[in-house]
Amino acid sequence: MHNKLHDIRLLAIDADDTLWENQVNFEAAQHLYCKLLRPWADEQTVRDSLYKVECRNMPLTGYGTKSFTLSLIENAIELTDHKIPAEKIHEILKIGYAIMNQPVKLLSGVQETMEQLFKSQKYYLVCFTKGDAKEQEDKFFKSGISELFSNIIVTSDKHEWEFRRLCLYYDIKPEQIVSIGNSFKSDIHPIVTLGGWGIHIPYNRLWQYDHIEEYEHDHVIQLQQFSDILQYL
Ligand SMILES: [Mg+2]
Repeated sequence: MHNKLHDIRLLAIDADDTLWENQVNFEAAQHLYCKLLRPWADEQTVRDSLYKVECRNMPLTGYGTKSFTLSLIENAIELTDHKIPAEKIHEILKIGYAIMNQPVKLLSGVQETMEQLFKSQKYYLVCFTKGDAKEQEDKFFKSGISELFSNIIVTSDKHEWEFRRLCLYYDIKPEQIVSIGNSFKSDIHPIVTLGGWGIHIPYNRLWQYDHIEEYEHDHVIQLQQFSDILQYL
């Protein structure tokens, strides 16, 4: 165990782009979407306006594929000045459903690492993820590794408040939590602010919305890949 990590009780493990691939599916969907809208606008225009619509909608609709699909439709209607035919809207819906029907592809080393952690019986192993509850739970149970976790908790966002709720639920202190994930903004910053620990494992793709200024901190460990966490836990 890392000399600074002691009395850890719970690992809050992020899901998307920490345990399994996610962003790549959204990028593939956006590519198809841009192709579909090519008669009306070039790719960059479509992407830029889509991001604006998403940012406008997310405070209301939250994260996940359903809200993303609503934004795809809304953006298409706006970009085409309400002229997009219903059959194209139908195709856009299918792009959204295709994301939800994707098989769950675990990232390298995840299965073996989770098996080790499960065997060690040292921590509560909680899949702690933001997004749409139904969608995140479906991916979790499709992943084939759900049995290796104590729990899955899906929140609409990951701020300090959600980590405090995790403490209340398990009757532990923030400094007894290690949050593990690819997003500094959601998985690291809030828990470190509360006095807990973060293991940051950046993925080669980061959602534009999840960008934040990263910083060095005594309670933050930077790693290259998921299996590296075993050196510390
Ligand atoms: Mg993530």
